Amino acid sequence: MGKNIIRLLLICISFSVIGQEEKTKNKVVFIIVDGISSDLYYKSNTPNIDAIGKEGAFTEAYVGGKRGTITETPTISAVGYNSLITGTWVNKHNVYGNDIRKPNYNYPTLFRVLKDAYPNKKTAIFSTWLDNRTKLVGENLPETNNVKVDYHFDGLEVDEKRFPHDQFKKYLKRIDAEVAREAANYILDEGPDLSWVYLEHSDDVAHYYGESKAFFDIVAYEDALVGTIANAIKLRELKTDENWLLIVTTDHGRMPLDGKHHGFQSDRERSIWIALNKPITNTYLKNNRVALVDIYPTIIDFLSIPLPKQTAYELDGIPLNKQIDVFDLTGVAIDNKVKLNWLVEHKEHEKAKVYISYTNNIKKGGTDEYKLIGEVDVQDKEYLLKIKPVKKTTYIKIVFVTKNHSINTWVKIN
Ligand SMILES: [Zn+2]
Repeated sequence: MGKNIIRLLLICISFSVIGQEEKTKNKVVFIIVDGISSDLYYKSNTPNIDAIGKEGAFTEAYVGGKRGTITETPTISAVGYNSLITGTWVNKHNVYGNDIRKPNYNYPTLFRVLKDAYPNKKTAIFSTWLDNRTKLVGENLPETNNVKVDYHFDGLEVDEKRFPHDQFKKYLKRIDAEVAREAANYILDEGPDLSWVYLEHSDDVAHYYGESKAFFDIVAYEDALVGTIANAIKLRELKTDENWLLIVTTDHGRMPLDGKHHGFQSDRERSIWIALNKPITNTYLKNNRVALVDIYPTIIDFLSIPLPKQTAYELDGIPLNKQIDVFDLTGVAIDNKVKLNWLVEHKEHEKAKVYISYTNNIKKGGTDEYKLIGEVDVQDKEYLLKIKPVKKTTYIKIVFVTKNHSINTWVKIN
């Protein structure tokens, strides 16, 4: 090949890479307002979040993984945030409580995969809790490939001079307001590509007072803060040609009876909600109970982030913003066979490629070998799969790859 042709090729390649990055003016903000079960959301006065849902979509959802299975996940705050930002349940991301002892960073966060794919894209965290950036996202840790967050506004709660701590944690109400105001200003001025806003005080009030006037008041207060951010996004869209996805959600519900605490597996503790400012055309969200972990693949899709296959095959959620081919994939082992079942939302005959892995090396940073078993018609809704004999109790990993997404399940053998 002549030198000129090579040069021309290189120019074409670099243009197409630049083109890919510049073409997408899609941006995302997700907001977590802490600890509002779906029934209490409905009882609260939330005109701003309601308006977002009306313009786009609103759905009830669940946290806590699949009850009674390996994915069952405590309905605790940091556990929920980490399920959102890794797209996995606790058996993978390994954050079991608010002490965040040992996150498994081999299930990369949204912040990590965005930076890995597009180092020049900008991220921001506005948070009433410092650990979200330093421990869950793991900024600057070797285990996260020293992922950077381009802008942060957090840690105000450790500044006791400016925010003296009080018995009922009222100082956090003021911090929530500061966090939301900074998020609104920064988003309007700078337009980062991916932002996380975290507002805490609704959960504190519930822990003290349970379902009460004080709780409904703080939810209305947080809703107004969400409104300032939603308005900033609207203004930003008016002055640019950017396209913003805003997602507002919560991290867990509340205990039955008094609504004070959370952490267990009751329906109310597992119940959450998700509001999105973009209409959802597929029927999956309308007809099914979606999950907190569905937000990750939704953001991945909206920001066109190419995921490494090993990461995609571990995701416990499926995207909400495009057609879903298969959901609720489960498997039961019977002798040397596994009976797989799944659900479909549409009537089209499509193929799903079925892969199997007998290892779980990704847990320790390795890679798993997925063997292609065959193809199934998604309309069959069941498949009997022969597996090789295994000596001890273990899990095998099954992945379906369809036209629009992948989905996985772990099956217990022996
Ligand atoms: Zn919480």
